[in-house]
This record gives sequence, structure tokens and C-alpha cells, in this order.
Amino acid sequence: MTASFDIAIVGGGLAGCSTALHACRMGGSAVLLERGRCGAQASGVNYGGVRQQGRHSAELALSRRSRSIWGNLHELVGSDCEFRVTGHLKLARDETDMDDLLVHKAELHTHGIEADLLGAADLRRRFPYVAPTYAGGSFCAEDGQANPRLVAPAFARAAAALGADIRECCAVDQIEVSDQGFLLWLRGDPVPVRARRLVNTAGAWGAAIAALLGDYVDETVMAPNMAVTEPIAPLIGPNLGICGGGIYIRQTRQGSVVFGSGLGVADRDRLKARPLADVTREAARSAIAMVPQLANVLLVRTWTGIEGRMTDGLPVVGPSPRVKGLFHAFGFSGHGFQLGPAVGAVLAELSLCGHSPTDIDGLSMSRFEKRSAASPAAGPYSA
Ligand SMILES: Cc1cc2nc3c(=O)[nH]c(=O)nc-3n(C[C@H](O)[C@H](O)[C@H](O)COP(=O)(O)OP(=O)(O)OC[C@H]3O[C@@H](n4cnc5c(N)ncnc54)[C@H](O)[C@@H]3O)c2cc1C
Repeated sequence: MTASFDIAIVGGGLAGCSTALHACRMGGSAVLLERGRCGAQASGVNYGGVRQQGRHSAELALSRRSRSIWGNLHELVGSDCEFRVTGHLKLARDETDMDDLLVHKAELHTHGIEADLLGAADLRRRFPYVAPTYAGGSFCAEDGQANPRLVAPAFARAAAALGADIRECCAVDQIEVSDQGFLLWLRGDPVPVRARRLVNTAGAWGAAIAALLGDYVDETVMAPNMAVTEPIAPLIGPNLGICGGGIYIRQTRQGSVVFGSGLGVADRDRLKARPLADVTREAARSAIAMVPQLANVLLVRTWTGIEGRMTDGLPVVGPSPRVKGLFHAFGFSGHGFQLGPAVGAVLAELSLCGHSPTDIDGLSMSRFEKRSAASPAAGPYSA
């Protein structure tokens, strides 16, 4: 017999698992269909940066809401997922960067997010391990970092505990729209799943799922190049980044230093991604230039993952412009980990109530139909 749900969710990354959890908390019935394992793609292999600072204004309301969920993880999913409020320090290379940070500080403030601007002397006093070559920086104290391996599975378990039907190793191949909603056909299963609403959180495969339903949008792939060192004594407090989006560095509670810069390669069709040795070498040089004490620390592993990227560097989050009852959230362009918890809350609200209090207007799919050459794009990639 065909099972029937309020919401069917395609894709069990953090966005999808959070949607399932929030839908159940709101009293809806949800089925989550994940081709592999929950959190095994981008949501589980990312850098682990949980920052509001440095985001495009179109993402700030969502990011703000997500930050409040990150602070409440234990209550929500039974684990803090190693989320730590270490702060995020964005370094300025020169006075032009300092001017940009000042403008961004005002923008953050309008969303209730506070950042402290630090001149070169303050920077040296507060963060003496950072190379003395920077003009200053901006410190957002309430940003932080988490262990990506833990987060999506914790949301999936919490959703299952509230009654969500979480189906792993379950690929969605075809989708039909009917008067009653949606029929989803699963690989190797003759019995479809029926749902009143459909949420597409298929990550780098999100545009392919959207295209099954007539929503066409360009989504390319990116593979941020990552590396981790042996554990060392506590050195780096905050999550470190730099204006212009080059190197980013954090130290885990266990002492390992995780850093990323540049891109590896990804093959979306074969589900394969690999880091590049030359890119890792250059990233290591940049990491040492930012934190000189990292010289001679042993590198133990490099990796990357498959992430969807939109042409303007911002995700699609919101209703389909064409199909009633269909909602998309994909193409996070390298920074959807922090957003994931709130994305799920918003998608559950849109699906079950038809509206959300969180402003996502700047992330609509229809922006690609209206886009002109003069439209602003987000800055360069920075996790
Ligand atoms: C190396 C790396 C570093 C990053 N660093 C950061 C960072 O520090 N901070 C930050 O905020 N963001 C970061 N990101 C981005 C962030 O990880 C992603 O934006 C976010 O995890 C996307 O979550 P998602 O749920 O949309 O997608 P995913 O986690 O990719 O999940 C999508 C899921 O959909 C499933 N799926 C696809 N097609 C189907 C189908 N037909 N049927 C069933 N299931 C399907 C896939 O198997 C997958 O599990 C990074 C990304 C990478 C790759």
C-alpha cells in the first residue's frame, strides 16, 4: 500500500534532517528519503565553521535564526555536536578591508549580530599567535565551530524519535505531481510514496530534482579543499578567516588544526570528490603565513566534498515559482552548514503553515529569472 505523509523530503543532509525534525515538532508527518546515509555528503565532511560574520545580507536573517538553534542543540537533538562558541575572527589585509569590515559591522548590527572591530595593536594583544602582518580584523564573539560528522545524523535520530520515517539507501528516481500532491518513485521499489508537500534538499543534486518538476536553474559543483593536522597543544581560539575569502583555520577541542583554502575536484555523477596536492601545499603555506607556529606541524589527512554552487554564490531557499506545494533549499555554495538548522525550520513552516517569520526573500528561485547583469553577487568563497 502507498504510504502517505504531510511532507516528503528528498535528501538527508543537514537541511533535510532539520526539516524532518521541525516538521515532526510542528505535528506534521514526514518521510525523509536519502540515497546514501544521512549526513554523508557535504553536511558531514565540511570544515565545521559556524559563522554569521562574512555572509551576504540576503542570508543574515536565516543565519541569525540558525545561530539561536545552534545554541540550543542539546535540548533539540540530545547532543551539542561539539558546537563551541569560540568566536570568528575575520582578518583585514589592509585599510580597504578595514573599511569593508566597518560597513559589514553595521549590516550585522541591523540583524542583531555584534562584531568588534580591532586595529592592528588590539589584534596583536588579543591574538598573539596571528602573524603581525594584518591591518586589523573583526571579531564576532558568538560565532564558533562544530563537528560536522555529528550534526545531520543527530537531527535525523531526533526526527525519528518523534515519528519521522527516515529511509536511508533510498534514491528518489521520479516524481509525479497530482491533485493530491506528489508521488515519489524510489529506485528498486514498485510502491511509490505519497505526500501533500515536497521538500527538495538534495544538495549538489538539488537542481536535478527541481528539473524533474519543471523548475530549471543552473547549479554547478565545488569541492573546498580541506586538511587536518596532528593534535597540538591549544593555540588557536577562534575560527579564523580572512577578507577576500582565502585561508580559514580552526583548532578542534582535541587539538587538531583544520584548515581549508582553494578547491579540489568533484564528480557529481559518480559521487566522487578528491583534494588536490598542489592546492593543499598552497593552503599549508597560507596557513603558516597566518599562524606561523603551524610550521612543522604534521599534516595527517586531506579531503573534500561535493557542494552545489549557484551562479551568484547564494542558495535557493523557498517555494517553487511554478509548482504548488513544492519547496527547494539547495546550492548553498560552500556555506550552508551554519544555515542548515534554520533552513529546516523555515521549510517545515512553509510546508505546513504556508509562511515563515524568517526573511528569505533574497534567496528565492525566481531571482534567476529576473537577474540582470547589474545584480550584486556574493563575495569570493569563504567557509
Ligand atoms: C569541504 C566542504 C567544506 C565546507 N565548509 C563549510 C563551513 O565551514 N561552514 C558552512 O556553513 N558550510 C560549509 N560547507 C557547505 C556545507 O557543508 C553545505 O552547504 C551543507 O552541508 C549543505 O547541506 P545540504 O543538506 O543542503 O546538502 P548535503 O549535505 O549535500 O545533502 C544532500 C543529500 O541529498 C541526497 N540526495 C541527492 N539526490 C538524491 C536523490 N535522488 N534521492 C535521495 N537522496 C538524494 C544526497 O545523498 C545528500 O546526502 C562546506 C562544504 C564542503 C563540501
